[in-house]
Amino acid sequence: MSKLLTLLPVSPPRASTFFVPLIVFSIVIVIYELLHLASVAPEIIRFTIGFALVFIVIFAAFRNGLWPALLIATLSNLYIIYALGGPGRHIVPLSNMLRGEWLLLLLFFTPAIVIGYLRDLVNKLIQRERQARDQVEEERLQLIKTLEHMPVGVVIAKAPTGELTFSNSYLEQLSGHPIPNHEKLNDYPGNVLIDEHGNPLPQARWPITRVLNHENLVNEEYLYALPSGEKRTLQIKGAPIYNNNNQIISGVVIVDDITSEKESLQRKDDFVSMVSHELKTPITSLKVYTQLLLRTINNPDDTQAKTLRKIDEQANKLHQIINNMLDIAKVTTSSQSAKPQTINLDAIIQDVVQDLQATYPDRALSIKGLTPGTITGDRDQLSQVLINIINNAIKYSPPVSEIFIQSQIQSGSIVVSVQDFGIGISVKDQERIFERFYQAQNGSETSSPGLGVGLYLSTEIIKLHGGKIWVESRKGQGSTFYISLPLTKSTTKSASKQRQSPATTAE
Ligand code: ADP
Repeated sequence: MSKLLTLLPVSPPRASTFFVPLIVFSIVIVIYELLHLASVAPEIIRFTIGFALVFIVIFAAFRNGLWPALLIATLSNLYIIYALGGPGRHIVPLSNMLRGEWLLLLLFFTPAIVIGYLRDLVNKLIQRERQARDQVEEERLQLIKTLEHMPVGVVIAKAPTGELTFSNSYLEQLSGHPIPNHEKLNDYPGNVLIDEHGNPLPQARWPITRVLNHENLVNEEYLYALPSGEKRTLQIKGAPIYNNNNQIISGVVIVDDITSEKESLQRKDDFVSMVSHELKTPITSLKVYTQLLLRTINNPDDTQAKTLRKIDEQANKLHQIINNMLDIAKVTTSSQSAKPQTINLDAIIQDVVQDLQATYPDRALSIKGLTPGTITGDRDQLSQVLINIINNAIKYSPPVSEIFIQSQIQSGSIVVSVQDFGIGISVKDQERIFERFYQAQNGSETSSPGLGVGLYLSTEIIKLHGGKIWVESRKGQGSTFYISLPLTKSTTKSASKQRQSPATTAE
């Protein structure tokens, strides 16, 4: 098709272009008429003129298509009849001419119809292809313009090499210099993404490497070091792109600079933490004096005693809220101060379950199965996560229903699950319950509504440990919360061996 494009005079038919074959046709006729007048038109000239007319028909068919070619063919046909058999010529008797007309028709109309029709057909196909190509090109430009002007950074890289195929101006503004063309992942500057200690991130943890390794990134935070040494916080989303055969063809990464949001959040956290600290002392005094006063009252049914107990209750709630606030502040700063130690998760699970069972003796907490697994982390923080989740299971399920706790090894991680048969969580709420201060509608149905920070705190702690937390739930049927934590490398092998042996059960 592309060869034909160059051979054929392909263009949208224009009336003016038809004048060319018409003028050539007229010139040929004038030449013949002049030769005839001068009586110098031998046989050979007549043949030449005849062939010239056939060529003009072919030329018109190529150049102008079917209908102009048919017109020239008709004119040529009529002229030949006139020139050879018309009045005053008698070169060939008119009756013979008319009998042989079908031959002339064949001579002029066959090339006009065949070539003209094919030319129109090819022209139509080419036009259609051109329109489609123009449309694709326009859409491509529109897409590039949209990506170029998006208020977030966009990086697109080819799989599997990592060749950079697109990056927009937001990224250039962010990095403070033009983004050079990278042909391989190794060409990317390796020292711009850093960990919390300021060390360059290994290539395997770069967002672009991860999406090219089939990972989806959802709002992940990265630290970025500017040439000036200033650190920025980036929020990154990313996804691999597959073709119809399910083969990865490229990876796209969306980058947003959330440094100022992080800073204002930090200022808010600092303020809340300071106020909470300040409030702790007066509330402790309030509690102590309330307890003292309660002890002085002999009759517990006394109105004064009832009032004091109410004050004590509210002071306890205030105390709980302040503790939550302080926990948030602690967890947001602990990423820098955490001192990881090797711990046995099954031992922590058993301790937490025992403590909670003692606090809620009427509730049935059952450990369905435990797999020994060593992880690296903070014992207190992980206990806090388990307490939050089991406490929720107790809070949001009827007193008679059981709660199952279990741990299993799954591809290099230990997965702890807490299952209840309570009120459950709607799909819409499941997406949001891990956000700070978010409480699902069902929260108000319980007698002891919380603050909506327990799951947020748990998520932050689990993230700090390089793990994941998620929920599976059906409204009205109960929920299962899962925590997955990476096993300490040296124990991964032995733990997976133990996975084969039956799980230990403790109640
Ligand atoms: P809260 O202090 O309100 O319990 P959380 O952050 O622990 O805060 O939980 C957030 C919300 O998630 C709760 O308000 C509740 O609506 C829902 N939720 C958490 N755990 C469960 C559960 N096991 N069953 C039903 N709903 C739950």
